[in-house]
Amino acid sequence: QGSRVFHPEDTIIRTKHSMIGGDNFTMMAGPCSVESEEHITRMAAVAKANGATVLRGGAFKPRTSPYSFQGLGEEGLRFLRRAADQYNMDVVTEVMDDEHVEMVGKYTDIFQIGARNMQNFSLLKAVGRTNIPVMLKRGMSATVDDVLNASEYIAAGGNHNIMIAERGIRTFDNKYTRNTMDAGVVPVLQKLTHYPVIIDPSHAAGHTEFVTPLGLAGVAAGASGLVVEIHDDPAHALSDGPQALLPEQFKELSDKAFAIRDLL
Ligand code: PEP
Ligand code: MN
Repeated sequence: QGSRVFHPEDTIIRTKHSMIGGDNFTMMAGPCSVESEEHITRMAAVAKANGATVLRGGAFKPRTSPYSFQGLGEEGLRFLRRAADQYNMDVVTEVMDDEHVEMVGKYTDIFQIGARNMQNFSLLKAVGRTNIPVMLKRGMSATVDDVLNASEYIAAGGNHNIMIAERGIRTFDNKYTRNTMDAGVVPVLQKLTHYPVIIDPSHAAGHTEFVTPLGLAGVAAGASGLVVEIHDDPAHALSDGPQALLPEQFKELSDKAFAIRDLL
């Protein structure tokens, strides 16, 4: 169902404040985690002022260690929703568990399926039974066919509002970057599927200084949007501080991204 062969036109996903796919370019930004109501509200202001129409923020966090901050849960979703509404933005947030789909769906405009859950088939089926758009992140060791098959688990349930996000894959050399951003996957996915392709340069780079060049490479490759982690005090971020862009750094990325997109 995701194949271009049977559906040549681009899928365009319409949310309250965004059009995603086709000729549109969508900026999504926010902190890795929702940390407090004040913080997410400040970050929403920064995101919105720099062209983002979608506010990101995790309330259920898939942390590598069980002893790391796990997210604020439903309270975090309330803060995220209120911050987005205040700035007329959409929300994208991760749902980690099929039992949470209904509850998270009350707060979000777009479900994020994290890289680690890309092949959690019960979760994919559960979001596939809703009509809420889904941003499916490519697993860090997933092939193109793996991520396309994962998207079919969502589409098979009747939900065709799917976007696919590249967030970097594991390769033989991830000493200097957290993952390897596969810019080549953008035109490949666009050839194979009609779903919008989004680039997440933050989790690919792992370090602030590499986020902007990778994000711009993704835009130049033709991505329909970026999803970027931002923070005003990265040293004290509760997760992923080392890859967060400061507000002024995000402004630079966003200005350049929109300029590159205009050239395409
Ligand atoms: C995130 O978006 O904060 C996240 C955990 O992403 P990923 O699933 O790509 O690691
Ligand atoms: Mn993160």
